[in-house]
Amino acid sequence: MIKVAIVGAAGRMGQTLVEAVSQNSNAMCVSVATVLADDPALGVDIGLLAVGAAIGVETVAELGAGQSDFDVLIDFTSPEATMSHLAYCQANNKAMVIGTTGLSGEQQQAIETAAENIPILVAPNMSVGVNLCLKLLEQAARVLGDEVDIEITEAHHRYKKDAPSGTALKMGAVIADTLDRDLEECAVYGREGISEERDRSTIGFTTIRAGDIVGDHTVTFAGLGERVEITHKASSRMTFASGAVRAAKWIAEKESGLYSMQDVLEL
Ligand code: NAD
Repeated sequence: MIKVAIVGAAGRMGQTLVEAVSQNSNAMCVSVATVLADDPALGVDIGLLAVGAAIGVETVAELGAGQSDFDVLIDFTSPEATMSHLAYCQANNKAMVIGTTGLSGEQQQAIETAAENIPILVAPNMSVGVNLCLKLLEQAARVLGDEVDIEITEAHHRYKKDAPSGTALKMGAVIADTLDRDLEECAVYGREGISEERDRSTIGFTTIRAGDIVGDHTVTFAGLGERVEITHKASSRMTFASGAVRAAKWIAEKESGLYSMQDVLEL
């Protein structure tokens, strides 16, 4: 039985993760659930909040307090919180699945360094469909290459903090790598006013924040006379949570190292 710690357990993803782990009760269980110290859910059985029935795990304000035994930690919180969970997992030799987005280059570097000692899987999007799309994008970029304009459009709910989404940036990175471009140099984030003709070597990003959209991404490869669009639409957070649970099962068996969903799905 794999024991799982869910940090940020009262959050949108946190609650869905508790539900997803509960649906896999033959292989895993939630053994630790953390919330912020000022969260009204502190000290409450996390099952009551997430699945409507007690599971015998009361939320704590920090890792190591109260019930503290776990094998894999699943983190969908904020970049700062992820860094403190990373330090805990490294000090206590625990595996991590990180879904938090908006990580800075420095924070990503800290994760890479920690992965020399513990197994860590990082994915800005845990859905199987999005990870398949990353593979399709690589193929599309290889075939359509420098003959087309490439634009990435993403839409998310009004509460999302980072923009563009981690998934949109990952899509851009995959395309840029395939075309031997440097995303930092070729990315264009939004446009306004009068400008020159579009430079074909750029990759454009457009962000929409509205209502309760769970997560839509479209990559357009537009040439003269035709265009190819690769679209993914998530309609439930459970798609991300199921992917994270699959990743947690997979990484529980692994040695230290930095892994991605592409490794889990053998894409
Ligand atoms: P949210 O704001 O609903 O949840 C985050 C939770 O973390 C909050 O409840 C907050 O109180 C809690 N938290 C913050 N710091 C904490 C700490 N130190 N200890 C304990 N709890 C702490 O946000 P969300 O929509 O659930 O998204 C969370 C993150 O996951 C975001 O970065 C989002 O972009 C990312 N995300 C990733 C995927 C993916 O597939 N990788 C999918 C959806 C969301």
